[in-house]
Parts: sequence; C-alpha cells; structure tokens
Amino acid sequence: MAEQASNCLFCKIAAREVDAKIVHESDNVVAFRDVNPQAPTHILLIPKDHIESVAAIGPSQAKLLAEIMASATHLAKAEGLEGGWRLVTNVGPDAGQSVQHLHFHLLGGRKFRWPPG
Ligand code: AMP
Repeated sequence: MAEQASNCLFCKIAAREVDAKIVHESDNVVAFRDVNPQAPTHILLIPKDHIESVAAIGPSQAKLLAEIMASATHLAKAEGLEGGWRLVTNVGPDAGQSVQHLHFHLLGGRKFRWPPG
C-alpha cells in the first residue's frame, strides 16, 4: 500500500478515488493527463507514496526517481515526441507549485522558449 497523505489530491488520483486520465501505472508510479494542459502533450508523473516535492527526495528514493525518469522517456516515445520534450518540476510558491505532492510535468508537441516564464 502506498503511503497516503490525507486530503492530497494526487494521493487520491493514485488510489483511484478521484478520476484522472491515467496513461501509465506501475507499483510505484502513476502518470495521468494534466486537467489544464499547457501543450498538446501534458502528462503528470507522480510517485504513489506521498512525497511533498523533489526537495524531499533522499538517497533511499534514487530507484524511484530513476523509474519516474524512465517512465517519462517511455511516455515521450509513446506520444511521438520525436522533436523533443520537457520535464519540469516546481518546488515551492516562487516556482508555482500548487499541489504539494511530487509531480513531474512531461510537456511536448510544441516549441518551448528558454528561459521559462
Ligand atoms: P504545479 O503547479 O506544478 O503544482 O502543477 C499542478 C498541476 O496539476 C497543474 O498543471 C494542474 O493543472 C494539475 N491538476 C490539478 N488538478 C488536477 C486534476 N484533478 N487532474 C489532473 N491534473 C490536475
């Protein structure tokens, strides 16, 4: 069983208590389409366990992080993002983190600017 936090939206999506368009799932990771997409492909990858952000990741979660990265590559290929893609995670209010459960945005299907806004 994943370690859930009470009243966490993404824990509820991982537990299938809240509906989402899930595109990938393993024992440790869930990926689903963002409800407010910022690109033709906008998928969120999350650990099933409640982790607040990437700032709370330690050495014991190295395998989990590697699995999330490999899942992002797998999904980018499945989405046909041959031209490139972006993987972003926001930490804290200055970066605009609005859900306090670690998530990586997989974005693709259009050109992105750098630096981001
Ligand atoms: P962040 O601002 O980095 O914390 O990203 C949170 C993301 O979660 C935003 O892009 C939202 O559009 C997305 N989001 C919020 N609620 C849902 C939901 N119920 N299903 C899918 N995506 C969601």
